Amino acid sequence: KKVVIVGGVAGGASAAARLRRLDEQAEIIIFERDGYISFANCGLPYYIGETIVERSNLILQTPQMMLDRFNIDARLHSEVVSIDSAKKSVTVKSADRGVYEESYDVLVLSPGAKPFVPPIAGVGSDKIFTVRNIPDADRIKAVVDNIARKKERTAAVVIGGGFIGVEMAENLIERGIPVTLVEAAPHILPPFDDDMVTLAEKELSDHGVRMILGDGVREFAEIPGGDEIEVTLLSGTRLKAGMVILAIGVKPDVDFLKGSGLQFGPRGHIIVNDRMQTNLDSVYAVGDAIQVVDFVNGGETTIPLAGPANKQGRVAADNICGIDSRFRGSQGTSIIKIFGLTGAMTGNNERNLRRLGMAYRVVHVHPNSHASYYPGATPIALKVLFAETGKVLGAQAFGYDGVDKRIDVIATVIRMGGTVDDLKELELAYAPPYSSAKDPVNMAGFLAE
Ligand code: FAD
Repeated sequence: KKVVIVGGVAGGASAAARLRRLDEQAEIIIFERDGYISFANCGLPYYIGETIVERSNLILQTPQMMLDRFNIDARLHSEVVSIDSAKKSVTVKSADRGVYEESYDVLVLSPGAKPFVPPIAGVGSDKIFTVRNIPDADRIKAVVDNIARKKERTAAVVIGGGFIGVEMAENLIERGIPVTLVEAAPHILPPFDDDMVTLAEKELSDHGVRMILGDGVREFAEIPGGDEIEVTLLSGTRLKAGMVILAIGVKPDVDFLKGSGLQFGPRGHIIVNDRMQTNLDSVYAVGDAIQVVDFVNGGETTIPLAGPANKQGRVAADNICGIDSRFRGSQGTSIIKIFGLTGAMTGNNERNLRRLGMAYRVVHVHPNSHASYYPGATPIALKVLFAETGKVLGAQAFGYDGVDKRIDVIATVIRMGGTVDDLKELELAYAPPYSSAKDPVNMAGFLAE
């Protein structure tokens, strides 16, 4: 069996590794357009911020390692420019081998998503950056290093208050660069509800991030003779910056699949079933480029996160090898560090539930992260959303300690179809440095009664 994989990072590399584990004989080829496979996209902001110091730590596998450890043929600088499902072949444009065709028995697509770049004046400036891969991080870090060396530091403007925008704002501040964060919506971090996210906004302003909410970007203009660019917002506000980070969302990187006969969803994502099969024979797709089922409400959604991408890669490999494995949907469990604060969420938020017309109830609790008599306890703001039946639909939390485990516990309850009664009954690890005899998750369950 010959399996060809397009994209060698989260989804593609997981599919490849699992395939090899299940089938020692299969011929496995990965085509990767860029110069790296299996790198830590999620670590890029922290490399720019110098929390991750060694660049080499971002690279988890090289083609040589893939070959030596797994007998997988990973080809870099090899862009798949089209697929022909009738002929079962892909056309590859490669830096060293020119344009050639490669046949397949099975094709796995994991091309990911690319940063959305709005078609506005001045957007092509070399002072404007998007963050997707290692070359992007290298370019940004070179400019940041340069600004950080100067006495008079020029400011940065980050456009977009999603996870990547907020992580970049934090890391630029860590490098001593003044940051203005611009968000078109009334609040940042859209996975969280407005009543929760103000905690994140306060943490950002407390650490010197200037925030402009409810305002979008109109245009960019280079300032002649200087090192700066001017950003004009829709309101007319003008900002000067040495660099701009554009992080206003992503779209599936699927231009090369146009005309292939693949079916796409309303926002251009590849449609797959729960075995990750597309509508084309022997063609699977995984990761940020696909549309998935929302585990909580059963509707269609898109969730560009690394955990689902890895799991989907595994499910595709299982099915290619005849194992009956299914992907049952994403619930969007996610987490972010905002200086000292942690924000985490899972499932649906109020905005989502209202849009779907789903009835729900809400509890808010503010228990301490651990026993209040043991030093260092800090409050956690925890919000749980649940149906009339008690079924847990979603949760969000902010705090300085212990937020991750509370959300992970609730994420698990949601996955098992649990209710707020289950939250009450969960027996969770307790000693004073870690929790209270009534854990914050139990407290939310008690209040929901
Ligand atoms: P990718 O990992 O993007 O891989 C796709 C690869 O396919 C790319 O390398 C691309 O070059 C290649 N490719 C595309 N088209 C072609 C083609 N035609 N031919 C050959 N190769 C092609 N997720 C989290 O869960 N937590 C985080 O903290 C987090 N932080 C992030 C921070 C940043 C800065 C970024 C950019 C992403 C972050 N993510 C995070 C998202 C996570 O990285 C993605 O969800 C995940 O990588 C998706 O995997 P994928 O395989 O679909 O796509």
